[in-house]
Amino acid sequence: MDTSALCERLAHEIGGDVLAAADPGAAAESAAFNAAVVHRPAAVVAARDAADVAAAVRIAGEAGRRVAVQATGHGAAATGEDTVLVSTRRLTGVVVDPVARVARVAAGTRWREVIDAAVPHGLAPLSGSSSGVGAVGYTLGGGMGHLARRHGFAADHVRSVDLVRATGERARVTAGSDPELFWALRGGQGGFGIATAVEIDLFPVHAFHGGAMIVTGPAVADVLYAFAAWAPTLPEHVTTSVALLRMPPVDEVPPPLRGVVSLALRFGSTGTAEEAEALLAPIRRVAGAPVLDSIGTMSFAAVDGIHMDPPDPLPAVFRGGLLTGLPGDLVEGLLAVAGPDVEVPLAMVELRLMGGALARPAAVPNAVAGREGAFALSVVAPAPPPLAEVAPVVADGVVAALAPWSTGTSLVNFAGHGVAAESIWRPDVLDRLRRAKAAADPRNLFGGPLAELGAGAR
Ligand SMILES: Cc1cc2nc3c(=O)[nH]c(=O)nc-3n(C[C@H](O)[C@H](O)[C@H](O)COP(=O)(O)OP(=O)(O)OC[C@H]3O[C@@H](n4cnc5c(N)ncnc54)[C@H](O)[C@@H]3O)c2cc1C
Repeated sequence: MDTSALCERLAHEIGGDVLAAADPGAAAESAAFNAAVVHRPAAVVAARDAADVAAAVRIAGEAGRRVAVQATGHGAAATGEDTVLVSTRRLTGVVVDPVARVARVAAGTRWREVIDAAVPHGLAPLSGSSSGVGAVGYTLGGGMGHLARRHGFAADHVRSVDLVRATGERARVTAGSDPELFWALRGGQGGFGIATAVEIDLFPVHAFHGGAMIVTGPAVADVLYAFAAWAPTLPEHVTTSVALLRMPPVDEVPPPLRGVVSLALRFGSTGTAEEAEALLAPIRRVAGAPVLDSIGTMSFAAVDGIHMDPPDPLPAVFRGGLLTGLPGDLVEGLLAVAGPDVEVPLAMVELRLMGGALARPAAVPNAVAGREGAFALSVVAPAPPPLAEVAPVVADGVVAALAPWSTGTSLVNFAGHGVAAESIWRPDVLDRLRRAKAAADPRNLFGGPLAELGAGAR
């Protein structure tokens, strides 16, 4: 079936808009948060409901095309002519049951909407650093957020997934209905079908003490070394990370941070303010007078202020990995490739403390990668057109420099695109995922890091 026949067929059966690549509106509909990614699919389906998603999958399969899905484009990978791109951005909505402590979340919903629906009930989701990220894509990739060391990955707390399978059929997948598919969906990201909604657990959060402390100059190295010794001693109800930041020399950036390398230490605790401040004392001593210190008692609704991730689209290359620990020679190596004395086009190199519940298997086991990591590494290199070629080289360079301390695995959500599945999952998990993929998607319709898997790959 050629592309115009495909679009005609899709338009005939789908209630939402169907846009060919050249149609006005196609670029806007498929625009990703990561502006470095430009989709050029055969067709973009602006799904209006789950039935539209199912029809798109069925028709794409019959036409011999692949299927990709995008909610926000925070984790976008470019799609081409062989693909029908299903846009879920109109499938939004959250229903909270405060008694059962569960939220039903539609495919295109961002964390902001879930947080705003949960917090008035004294509850919080396992959302991450930016509430602009899509709740469903994040969760299917694992999802490591502000409550992660206490409660684990977001994927560990999924009760059901409403799924459009590779056949185009719709099913509610639970631990009871289809245990192997349910195992694979939670951590296998988008390789097994399109979720049209998920049911996730919410958690009581009565107090939250968090924020960020930003230092510059010699304090960058001092706080980094102190963090390496201090972070592993923290209790599980605390999450923390550090990020080496290079803010551009532009007016929007406050003068002390403009064009220099700074270090942001992030902190979030569900304990009391007194305990949090006592835990922070060793860091405050080393930090001296930070350029910014926002750590204090806050509403969980304000957690975006901890990482201060950019809310608007930007072009970037993302890479990641997992580290076995944070010894002094690693810190030295990190400063040598990304510290204040190095001229390199990097936006951020981040180390998040893992451990706690992240290291333990989920109550209902799943395919989440990365429980073995002591720290998660995340590298962001800006990739506007002049830096498009160099950005992947720069980001890969940081990951390579820290390879001696790598677990050899990665979080799906931080891995970046184009990396081999072997560098994400442990071999035993990957073998099982391969079998689940072959059973669920034998024609290899869906993309994601498992796109090269499945029997009879095209
Ligand atoms: C600024 C920023 C902050 C981030 N913070 C965190 C964080 O704190 N913790 C963390 O774990 N991750 C974090 N991430 C990574 C993020 O969770 C992943 O990029 C995730 O894939 C984004 O999901 P999305 O739906 O928003 O993005 P999209 O680009 O729309 O989707 C990404 C992928 O998710 C899958 N997917 C999306 N929707 C569906 C669906 N309905 N059914 C099946 N598969 C689907 C597909 O494989 C798709 O290609 C962050 C990313 C950014 C850019």
